[in-house]
Amino acid sequence: MEGEKKTKIVKTIKVDVDKCNGCKACEVICSAFHAAPKYSSNNPARSRIRVIREPLKDVYVPVYAGEYTPAECMGRDKYVIDGKEYEECAFCRASCPSRDVFKEPDSGLPLKCDMCEDDPTLKEPMCVQWCLADALTYEEREEEVVEEVKPADIEAGLEALVNKYGLQKVMDTVARIAKRDN
Ligand code: SF4
Ligand code: SF4
Repeated sequence: MEGEKKTKIVKTIKVDVDKCNGCKACEVICSAFHAAPKYSSNNPARSRIRVIREPLKDVYVPVYAGEYTPAECMGRDKYVIDGKEYEECAFCRASCPSRDVFKEPDSGLPLKCDMCEDDPTLKEPMCVQWCLADALTYEEREEEVVEEVKPADIEAGLEALVNKYGLQKVMDTVARIAKRDN
């Protein structure tokens, strides 16, 4: 189904793992920026970025909170980097039932990185601004996308029309349009 062409801004934070020194400034500022009221507290457990620290293996990996998932994965991933093996789920972005990471500590509600959307818009997300090691770099690009009309939207639209004009009238109109277009 052909839809309308639109331009959207794709926001990316590039993570250079080699530059991260594990200082956790990104966690502190993210949790403070999202506190209510803003900056009233900081608690890395509320941060939407967590730094996986494995000092004995010489690795610090910043991981951004991604989508919430109501069910655990059917399987698990294990990573081997430079010959060192890392825990299952260590670098996963999901907020999921099998672990506490990326969940609001009090309510258990999932946390997701929102790129610090604010009014007025920030020049760069807070974690990028606070990363003095330059491990995080913000990038924006424009992409042309075709917005597809989903069947669910059509159904919702049809339901509203049927409610307003009655089924017979909507069917007659659709039949008339179909005849005209053929
Ligand atoms: S602020 Fe930068 S260097 Fe510090 S932990 Fe976060 S990503 Fe790593
Ligand atoms: S972009 Fe903003 S919301 Fe996302 S992790 Fe960084 S500070 Fe937190």
